[in-house]
Amino acid sequence: AADHLAPALEAATHCPYCALQCGMVLRRSEADVTVQPRNFPTNRGGLCQKGWTSAELLTSAERLTTPLARPRKDADLEPVSWAEALDRVAAEIRRIRAAHGPDAVAVFGGGGLTNEKAYTLGKFARVALGTANIDYNGRFCMSSAAAAGIRAFGVDRGLPFPLADIAEADAILLAGSNVAETMPPFMRYLTEAKRRGGALIVVDPRHTPTAQQATLHLRVTPGTDLALANGLLHLAITEGYLDKDYIARRTTGFEEVRRVVAEYWPERTERITGVPVAQQREAVRLLAEAERAMILTARGAEQQSKGTDTVSALINLALALGLPGTPGSGYGCLTGQGNGQGGREHGQKADQLPGYRRIDDPAARAHVARVWGVDPDSLPGPGVSAYELLDALGTPAGPKALLLFGSNLVVSAPHARHVEERVRSLEFLAVADVVLSETARLADVVLPAAQWAEEEGTMTNLEGRVLRRRRLHEPPPGVRTDLEIIAALAARLGHGARFSAEPRAVFEELRRASAGGPADYSGITYERIEAEDGVFWPCPAEDHPGTPRMFLDRFATPDGRARFVPVEHREVAEDLDAAHPLYLTTGRVLHHYQSGAQTRRVKPLLDAVPEPFVQLHPDVAERLGIAEDDLVRVVSRRGEATARARITDTIRDDTVFLPFHWGGAGRANSVTNPALDPTSRMPEFKVCAVRLEKLEQA
Ligand code: SF4
Repeated sequence: AADHLAPALEAATHCPYCALQCGMVLRRSEADVTVQPRNFPTNRGGLCQKGWTSAELLTSAERLTTPLARPRKDADLEPVSWAEALDRVAAEIRRIRAAHGPDAVAVFGGGGLTNEKAYTLGKFARVALGTANIDYNGRFCMSSAAAAGIRAFGVDRGLPFPLADIAEADAILLAGSNVAETMPPFMRYLTEAKRRGGALIVVDPRHTPTAQQATLHLRVTPGTDLALANGLLHLAITEGYLDKDYIARRTTGFEEVRRVVAEYWPERTERITGVPVAQQREAVRLLAEAERAMILTARGAEQQSKGTDTVSALINLALALGLPGTPGSGYGCLTGQGNGQGGREHGQKADQLPGYRRIDDPAARAHVARVWGVDPDSLPGPGVSAYELLDALGTPAGPKALLLFGSNLVVSAPHARHVEERVRSLEFLAVADVVLSETARLADVVLPAAQWAEEEGTMTNLEGRVLRRRRLHEPPPGVRTDLEIIAALAARLGHGARFSAEPRAVFEELRRASAGGPADYSGITYERIEAEDGVFWPCPAEDHPGTPRMFLDRFATPDGRARFVPVEHREVAEDLDAAHPLYLTTGRVLHHYQSGAQTRRVKPLLDAVPEPFVQLHPDVAERLGIAEDDLVRVVSRRGEATARARITDTIRDDTVFLPFHWGGAGRANSVTNPALDPTSRMPEFKVCAVRLEKLEQA
């Protein structure tokens, strides 16, 4: 199974999965690859089950090792040569562009792609295809936090401080994050802080394994985190906890926010959020009396149709307490996907160019066009956001072809049944992937892509630390890297000279393209990353130390001050009613990652959690006559998902929970709501209205 492995190789690299990017050493043994954790600053020798088993997929019988193509729309996928596959993709691109114009070809990327790939994909879309239609699955991940961070601080970097600072905090408020399951080695920062006497406040509708470690758990009603944050700020004001000196020196706009939160008195906040007044008071006291305090958000707070405003409300609270830019304190977002941070900085997002520049900024266009050797006026964009792009596929005015890299979107997109219909309506779909995912099964051409241990590149973790992903061995015969695939397509489209398949050459170009932008990588080299355990951006020169802690002197706004943003609570996008009396919230479990395309193919992970389940409260179970392990249908206004009942009092009695790692009948996103945040265009994954129906057992 492992014939392609070169002998006696060892590589110090990072886990292929989440944004913690734990350090690991890969070693080749006689017939396989083994994983050992290494003592990298992020994971300090820890790995979760996903990391420990990450090498299994390298030699999996399920991985793709030959291109596949469908001779006709109604025919099965058949093995073809690389030349045939690439010629077919290029011919379809040319045909569809000639018939419908350049925007008829769309590109969709992923937050797990290396910086080099994200950069190349963005350039390929704008230069080789000339299409404005490119976005990526990171839009579904942290875009609300990014938009709120830019609004307040002028720039967005998940954590603007190193992870190590979290262990030193005296109080931490964690809103909408279950790190004990999503990134377990992160827990050591929280437990260290607690061991030193620090307080952990967790905001979550579920009493998750993370909430079980909390000093205080605020079991908020789904979709009301914004009201809770405004209520906490109301109390911070009325109880005299404001950092007035900080507000005067380092911020603007507080008076307008003070006026708005005056309406969020504790009893009203309790009515909206379900969080008792006493707990609100305790949370504010713990945060405000701490010498060093942090507010951290993740998807629970962000994946809402008011996600940007929700994060703004939490940033307002942090600013009022004087936290951002104060050593040892701050606000940060815990990015989810492996390169969720870097993936949004280098141009695979509809509205951005490399260096985290705005695509509608003439100076940014001129700079990047110079690096790419093209006319700035030839650069298309901005395009539309991920869900809007998927919603338009195959429509008269929408894209007719889609090139997909690193995403299993018919499982991971909201309102997935509709998205699947749109994908099926395309004239042409090409998918580059490691395995035949649910989305790849729909493709006209499937291109087998290399895995993380088979290629070089860089990733940027949740701290903004740029890391090196190292190659252990060549890809197996029949498999190519994404960079090779893109370069080969570019060559067939007449742009071969502009695209390299060599990661180092791409990174050197990325450095130049990012120079002067908010995410400036120009001083970062492969050698520095190796020697310094990663380098934090911005790093504008090779003799610049990088920036582990941002905002210490000034924020990245024109006047150097952080901006308060007044925001009001709004109801969730769809109401509960008699036919849909429960909230649904979705999330991850310890043993699976994202759409499960990888982890469902790793035996120990699949054995641990082999099928979808739905968590429900004992009172709900009793009312509906549902017993543990019963098959239950979760039904929303858009669709349904089938899962095994898991009855637990760790969930509110008005809420059920589905993990989103499965396709088919258990696809959680058949149920979720694509209502979009007006600013970030984030769908409302985290709350919609459902009912449960017990299925008769076979
Ligand atoms: Fe991999 Fe994340 Fe687990 Fe670390 S916490 S081993 S990066 S999945």
